[in-house]
Amino acid sequence: MPRFDVTIAGELNLDLILYGLPEQLPPERELLADGMALTLGSSSAIVAHNLAALGSRVGFQSRIGDDDLGPIALDRLRHAGVDVSHVRVVPGAAKTGLTVILPRTGWRNILTYSGTIAEFCWDDLDLDYLADSRHFHLSSYYLQTGLRPRVGELLQRLKQSGLTISLDTNDDPADTWQGGLLDILRYVDVFLPNEREAMKVAGTQDLETAVQKLGKLVPLLVVKLGRQGALAQRGNERFVSPALLVDAVDPVGAGDSFDAGFLHQYLRGGDLPACLASGNTAGALSTTRPGGTEAFRDATHRKGFFLKHGKVYPLT
Ligand code: ADP
Repeated sequence: MPRFDVTIAGELNLDLILYGLPEQLPPERELLADGMALTLGSSSAIVAHNLAALGSRVGFQSRIGDDDLGPIALDRLRHAGVDVSHVRVVPGAAKTGLTVILPRTGWRNILTYSGTIAEFCWDDLDLDYLADSRHFHLSSYYLQTGLRPRVGELLQRLKQSGLTISLDTNDDPADTWQGGLLDILRYVDVFLPNEREAMKVAGTQDLETAVQKLGKLVPLLVVKLGRQGALAQRGNERFVSPALLVDAVDPVGAGDSFDAGFLHQYLRGGDLPACLASGNTAGALSTTRPGGTEAFRDATHRKGFFLKHGKVYPLT
């Protein structure tokens, strides 16, 4: 029996959200926010956190800086039950990454210092640790510039060790959608883009064309459709699943939470409709609080939400 249900190698950083700032930011003025939240950021860490909150056994590998923010991020993961024994703290110029988010009416400023996200690389990995699992998940393919050149090799090795593999590219800041992605999809069992990412990767502006194309490259394609829910393509079979009706306050991390919900059920042997429903439930839960993990961190809120909306999780 492997030690973990899921291992994840990826980025770990915090999000600082400042509410209520003016639309314009004039220089040399002290501009007052009327609220703030410091919350776990980074797609890889959000997936890890929320999988563990749902009850999966999760091992996480990453690199953080020798600074004050890294331990806060690490504590958030540890508190959810994620094993962080293989996260490396590396002194040096690169500090733990930080994203500052300024929510406005209908739009946001997003300011990111990448720090150790871009430094995390092959030498930080312990392959035996990652392989001691039933499944491996990779997020933020395009942000992980240090690891990306050897992701194909990593996935191949883990596949040889008998793990199933899932991938969520997340956004490509350079908007090229290249970087050998199509080559590594051959190792991927579950590909989890959102609608925009699916069309970008497939090089089309038509979702159906993207689904047809990508569905031929992986055994299981799952496309997240925001408030439309999600769809899955497995060979010639198509499954659709509606989103939950909720009062969404913040979409940050909904896609990562969907991944956690989907994979949690997938690894419990759930059929595809149950996996999609689980993904939609987790995605919707995420939108009920700021950031990607706050709704999962509050056990009372989380369990109340599942009691009301979902029957797919054990409510222990
Ligand atoms: P991403 O965060 O990658 O952009 P989406 O916006 O597609 O991904 O959201 C991921 C999932 O979160 C959706 O498939 C859906 O299940 C859920 N979700 C997102 N927005 C809402 C919403 N307003 N109401 C209910 N569920 C939502």
